[in-house]
Amino acid sequence: MDIKFNISSILSELSGTNAKLIAVSKTQPIEKIQEAYFAGQRLFGENKAQEMAAKFEQLPKDIEWHMIGHLQTNKVKYIAPFVALIHSVDSLKLLQEINKQATRCNRIIPCLLQVHIAKEETKFGFDETEVISLISNNEIESLTHIRITGLMGMATFTDNKDLIRGEFHTLRKIFDKIKAMRFSSNVEMKELSIGMSSDYKTALLEGSTLVRVGTAIFGERNSVKN
Ligand SMILES: *Cc1c(COP(=O)(O)O)cnc(C)c1O
Repeated sequence: MDIKFNISSILSELSGTNAKLIAVSKTQPIEKIQEAYFAGQRLFGENKAQEMAAKFEQLPKDIEWHMIGHLQTNKVKYIAPFVALIHSVDSLKLLQEINKQATRCNRIIPCLLQVHIAKEETKFGFDETEVISLISNNEIESLTHIRITGLMGMATFTDNKDLIRGEFHTLRKIFDKIKAMRFSSNVEMKELSIGMSSDYKTALLEGSTLVRVGTAIFGERNSVKN
């Protein structure tokens, strides 16, 4: 895989949009991340807290680390000192813990709420009613060390582009609706985190601001060398 070439191809597709590229480096060794770094990439996504913390230690400090995977409350402490954005918030309990750890670190941690838009069954993510009820909760205002800055979603894993576009469109509508409403001052809809290797082009059509791309940059994960 020519990491530098892949990054520049994707960046050229993002030019003229509002989207930033997050290079999803989960399971990738340090050397590959360095290669992306030397190609100018600064935003990286990981889905495991301890793996992210270990990579943070070993890599340049101007990297922005994005947590994109399900986060257990007892793991928040590993990433709270440095994480740039947590995309995968799926409960009030997790938000409370992020607030607690952020307070300890004397920082404010931006968070996205994960919304379940795919057909596939998954344990993670809110539906529209749950998102609105969460951000309407009076307790949100008291969480002074978090900001809710947008929504994240994953489309169904399928070749059916219309289905994918429809799911992204649904999320986009929820995003726009919330944006037009008034909530606590620490809720501000700015980021729409949609799109992965197989569907980021579709996500751009629905206004993605953060695409999370792994295999299209680094190649298949855990495969024999190619
Ligand atoms: C792994 C992962 C990605 C990247 O997937 P690719 O298909 O490799 O681009 C994006 N988002 C989430 C939440 C992931 O877990």
